[in-house]
Amino acid sequence: MADRDSVWQALAQVKDPELGRPITDLDMVRRLEVDGGRVFVEILLTVQGCPLATRIERDVAAAVRTVPGVREVEVKLGVMNDEQREALVRKIRGPQPEPKSSLFDPDSRTRVIAVASGKGGVGKSTVTANLAVALAQEGHQVGLLDADIYGFSIPTMMGVSGPPRVFNRAIVPIDAHGVQVMSMGFLIERDTPVIWRGPMISGAVEQFLRDVLWADLDFLVVDLPPGTGDVPLSLAQRLPRSEMLVVTTPQEASVSVAKRAGYFAEKTNMRVLGVVENMASFVCPHCGETVEIFGAGGGERMAAELEVPLLARIPLEPAVRRASDEGTPIVVAAPESASAAAFRELAQAVARGAKREPRAVKA
Ligand code: ADP
Repeated sequence: MADRDSVWQALAQVKDPELGRPITDLDMVRRLEVDGGRVFVEILLTVQGCPLATRIERDVAAAVRTVPGVREVEVKLGVMNDEQREALVRKIRGPQPEPKSSLFDPDSRTRVIAVASGKGGVGKSTVTANLAVALAQEGHQVGLLDADIYGFSIPTMMGVSGPPRVFNRAIVPIDAHGVQVMSMGFLIERDTPVIWRGPMISGAVEQFLRDVLWADLDFLVVDLPPGTGDVPLSLAQRLPRSEMLVVTTPQEASVSVAKRAGYFAEKTNMRVLGVVENMASFVCPHCGETVEIFGAGGGERMAAELEVPLLARIPLEPAVRRASDEGTPIVVAAPESASAAAFRELAQAVARGAKREPRAVKA
């Protein structure tokens, strides 16, 4: 004899692969009948022809079979009607009147962490991806928005590709390494050069904040383009509570970059949370000696200029680049590495609001 509550609990372990939540929370379990050792479940898919139907069906059957006393499982698949879908969207977004995303709520609990740099190539996207995953590893609900319109590298680093699913006029982020990922690059043709002009940028940023079906996030981490152009400006205007992290290499950190970032933050009321020094030092895999390839002290100088803490020094490790190229950030690919440890320290500093000075961060 199988017990209905145990079957329900088993179903609660099954997540919708795209929405990342238990099917029981999403009201996808339409009917559940338990008759001795026989179980009948009807599951409502969110859309007709859902590409993941087979997987959901398989996961449901497998979960139910783990319940003691179950001998036979029958899974029937149905499809939600418009009303049920609307209810689902409302449920995911929280108690917000449509179509406003809860991100715009002045009391929203989501902290927006915008990751900036003075120029390209300093590892801003690498830091963004690893920070997002490290925050998720700590148990936070995390979204990652790739807004680096001059080169969308987040999809490669996170191992995802578009296009995302569109669901009741909302764009569903793609789950990767426990993070909800959305790239503005998903919606443009691959390798098509796009000339983004000011109004178009602010429209696109607005759309990505509003129309993406972000769950109730603890953190939305945003990969900004280098510099202080229209994207960070639009973000700051729309989400004045945003906080900024500035990524630099020891050598790049110039007083002028810090000055520009500081001036920008002041003008837009964004709070600068701190500085991250990337490619800080190189530990020779052969002799163990630490080599300061790009010099030292740049992060500290920039932090001092901005009067914010230096939150982390991420070492230069070939494994960081390899992991990124393979679509698995280093905090997942090699959690025991020095750089993964540094990224976790960064995530912890960000999570606590970085109000205190961090512990001495070892490269
Ligand atoms: P940005 O976003 O600033 O343009 P990326 O994050 O794309 O920079 O990084 C540029 C290149 O440097 C990438 O190939 C990336 O894998 C590599 N990289 C970034 N940080 C590190 C690091 N700490 N160690 C080794 N390689 C790194």
